[in-house]
Amino acid sequence: MQTTAKMISTTENKKISLIIPCFNEGQGLKNFHEAASKTMEKIDVTCEFIYVDDGSSDNTPVVLERLEAIDPRVLFLQLSRNFGKEAALTAGIDHAMGDAVIPIDADLQDPPELIVQMVEAWQSGADVVMAKRSSRSGDTLSKKFFSGAYYWLHKKLTNIEIPSNVGDFRLLDREVVDSVKRLHEKNRYMKGLFSWVGYKTVYIDFDRKTRSSGKSSYNFRRLMGLGLNGIFSFSAVPLKVWLRFGLAGILLSSIYIVIVVYKVLTQGIDVPGYASLLVAIFFMGSLQLVGLGVLGEYVGRIYEETKNRPIYIVKNKKKTRDGT
Ligand code: UDP
Ligand code: MG
Repeated sequence: MQTTAKMISTTENKKISLIIPCFNEGQGLKNFHEAASKTMEKIDVTCEFIYVDDGSSDNTPVVLERLEAIDPRVLFLQLSRNFGKEAALTAGIDHAMGDAVIPIDADLQDPPELIVQMVEAWQSGADVVMAKRSSRSGDTLSKKFFSGAYYWLHKKLTNIEIPSNVGDFRLLDREVVDSVKRLHEKNRYMKGLFSWVGYKTVYIDFDRKTRSSGKSSYNFRRLMGLGLNGIFSFSAVPLKVWLRFGLAGILLSSIYIVIVVYKVLTQGIDVPGYASLLVAIFFMGSLQLVGLGVLGEYVGRIYEETKNRPIYIVKNKKKTRDGT
């Protein structure tokens, strides 16, 4: 392992777990493993690579099986279907044995070379070292815009602060990992959970490139789902705001009632009003439906939680515990 010049000595005897969720990443996995191994050799730590195949339909499991056979540092977990990145990360975290854990994407958009700096910051006392995207050259303009707007809204609605331009790529000390493991909720927005536990955090800037191969599995609909989950799982404001709407409605309509009664008494019955009535009915009806929908989001979440199903199912490691 000791091939390159730069060594970080005080982390000797420490172990770092890399958690790599993989969904149809067969094409680029070999490159990723080579790049990540090269970086880990620069650091004087033992390491394990936990690859979680999240129900891929390409040759990802074959590549990972081969990697596990030739490299003793590799642990390959195969989920029984596609559970989503958040569940795959949870599976990795549950099986990680390291003193620090680093979730990292398999597509080389999170540069493994940054791990050297992350470990240095950890060594200097940080509990969490976040990789912050100084540029998003790999993202489209619309993704940049929606992402900016989303983090702004998230900050306004929730008590926790999820820094913008930060993904799941970060180093977490064992103590932080153990705290995250105490959060058993089924609707998992990992970035939110990582931020929720707190701890001393430092940031390292990096330039996020485009994917090395394959294509992103997050289309607009999926990103939207993840984003809404991030808000509904961490804030009750969307639920409570309807009380304010209702109160404002009562106040405004009370004023309007007085005006209408006054007009009728002083000027007689005002016949026209078809258009305004129709608009009011449609508007109030839609508003009520949105309110109901938001209520449904929360009730749905309560339903999911009470079923208490496992977050993921590992199918290739019979001895390990599933994500209950
Ligand atoms: N991923 C996963 N399960 C999924 C979707 C994605 O494990 O259902 C993995 C994927 O293989 C990659 C990481 O999550 O390692 C990030 O996914 P992607 O690159 O598609 O997202 P983006 O970088 O576009 O946000
Ligand atoms: Mg990616």
